Amino acid sequence: MPKPLPLRRIRDISFPPPPVLAEPDGLPDRTSLRLNLNESRLPASPRVAEAVARVVGDANTYPDHGCTALGALITRRTGVGADRLSFGNGSAELLVAAAMIAMEPGDEAVFPSPTFPTCAKGVQIAGGSIVNVPVTADGSHDMDAMLVAVTEKTRLFYICAPNNPTGGVVPADDLDRAIADVPTTCLLVIDEAYAEFAAHEGSADVLTALQSRSGPWVVTRSFSKAYALSGLRVGYALCSDTDIQHGLWQLRPNFNVNRVAQAAAVAAMSDTAHLDYILETTIRERQRLAGALTELGCRPFPSGANFLTIEMPVPSADVADALAAERIHVQSLPWPAGNGSLRITIGPAEEMDAVIAAVRRALEAAR
Ligand SMILES: *Cc1c(COP(=O)(O)O)cnc(C)c1O
Repeated sequence: MPKPLPLRRIRDISFPPPPVLAEPDGLPDRTSLRLNLNESRLPASPRVAEAVARVVGDANTYPDHGCTALGALITRRTGVGADRLSFGNGSAELLVAAAMIAMEPGDEAVFPSPTFPTCAKGVQIAGGSIVNVPVTADGSHDMDAMLVAVTEKTRLFYICAPNNPTGGVVPADDLDRAIADVPTTCLLVIDEAYAEFAAHEGSADVLTALQSRSGPWVVTRSFSKAYALSGLRVGYALCSDTDIQHGLWQLRPNFNVNRVAQAAAVAAMSDTAHLDYILETTIRERQRLAGALTELGCRPFPSGANFLTIEMPVPSADVADALAAERIHVQSLPWPAGNGSLRITIGPAEEMDAVIAAVRRALEAAR
């Protein structure tokens, strides 16, 4: 009997697609406040629009599959050579590919829980199994427990630094322990989608720490968050060696990073003053939001990212519904046990004022 299609393991993928935000007019709805996807609420560098205008006339030609200009800039910033870089249509594509180069049916992968689902989705695509290790009470990785969960079947170990959806950074000693103790037969994947925010506040330097690792690793980074290019879909991977890089390139769909996206990423990465403006505004407003919601009886978790996750004194889904009724969209999480929490993307002061006022109204109504 031929197997029914699609394949069982594909049909059984348990991670849902992202929310569809239909745009019948081809533009995002500006009458609602989107604080549920961790996009940048501040626009990209003005140099991006200029760069896009310069290249869009060449839309009839395929882009540079090698992403030469972008790669050269990334090499200058990171010291990682072009032969250890790969590029994705968002870092999500690279997180799936990282799982696919490491996993076969029967293999295991260790993840913190909750965390960003895309690498785990890659594990399911590859037919591997996911071993979830609950995060600590403050939303950090429980690195001891994660390392204990490693078996002879483990081929991938995932760290999300800072972790989405909790916000927790990975302390230097936890990072060093993982780098030393994750077996050399196992791919260490470090998802640094929020690296720029964490680095701005002095978090452990992942690339420097990885210099001591003898086993394989992949670090993924994104242009969707600090560089404010979610809509153009660009991410990159830094690899331990050229074999791992070759594996990621084998899985790259041809011309997966388009011409406009490459030019935009170069322009955004070149404008360090604009990056600093986004980082400083975001971190300042995140701290202000944390203070204001603490005064309302909520409990913010430590965050090193462009969002804040806050434990609610009443069921978080009810607060999220009340905010949605005011066209303010935030993400309600079932973590931690009890009332759960809200994950709120940080935006400029006026947006944070609106969210603080709406949470105050929702809590007053619930009490
Ligand atoms: C947003 C996010 C990504 C995906 O980013 P893209 O580059 O837009 O695909 C990856 N990892 C984490 C932890 C994220 O929060």
